[in-house]
Amino acid sequence: MKTPTLAAVLALAASVAVTAQTIDPARYRIVDLSHGYGPGTLYWPTSTEKFALKQEASGPTPGGWFYAANSLSTPEHGGTHLDAPRHFSEKGRTTEQIPLDQLVAPAVVIDVTKEAAADRNYRLTRDAVLAFEKAHGRIARGSAILLRTGWSRHWPNAVAYLGDDTPGDASKLSFPSYGEDAARLLVEDRGVAALGIDTASIDYGRSTDFQVHRIAAARNVPGFENLTNLDQLPQRGALVVALPMKIEGGSGGPLRAIALVPR
Ligand SMILES: [Zn+2]
Repeated sequence: MKTPTLAAVLALAASVAVTAQTIDPARYRIVDLSHGYGPGTLYWPTSTEKFALKQEASGPTPGGWFYAANSLSTPEHGGTHLDAPRHFSEKGRTTEQIPLDQLVAPAVVIDVTKEAAADRNYRLTRDAVLAFEKAHGRIARGSAILLRTGWSRHWPNAVAYLGDDTPGDASKLSFPSYGEDAARLLVEDRGVAALGIDTASIDYGRSTDFQVHRIAAARNVPGFENLTNLDQLPQRGALVVALPMKIEGGSGGPLRAIALVPR
């Protein structure tokens, strides 16, 4: 048998690489899942800092061209943002350590807008997840769960969105989210990649012990909080791309999340 030449091997590899290109952007609708950052961005009431954009330059240069540049500062946990596992676990992964396949994952959207509209302290139950699976199939390992409560319609009205806007006091918050038994099922049994939500937290507003954060962090499952536009996603079939600022040692960070929805 004749040994193939290096040139022949390289030519074959190149042709395989070309035919393996299967992502055609024209076949997807791209949905923005992030709120903008600005003076209206909502933060936890106990946060002493907010998003700040400081103008460093904006105007004509001596050379005659226009030049603009700003500096920014922000808490990690405000606006649309990532919760790294480190947020609630001393040994949990920090922002830059989260594997990319937990941030780019098939989306499963669980719609609880009716339940949340009837009870702003609604928590997703284990039975509700099992009922979802009965209707839509078992949730596959590695899925990113996006819990749709409809809450982003309140953004950026702090009282409506968070339930209270008393500075420095988080004891009167009220909004829907995941419940502890649903989180255990999703994180520990189904092995989901991430827990996302269109409210301020993967624990409900009344929570004082942050059980869902702790369950997720213990398994190195990140959270995506303050998402928006979940009403534009199908319950299955979209791909979520949730890439935070790659903060070394971070417990979270600002998040630009999008979804690719097959047309
Ligand atoms: Zn957070």
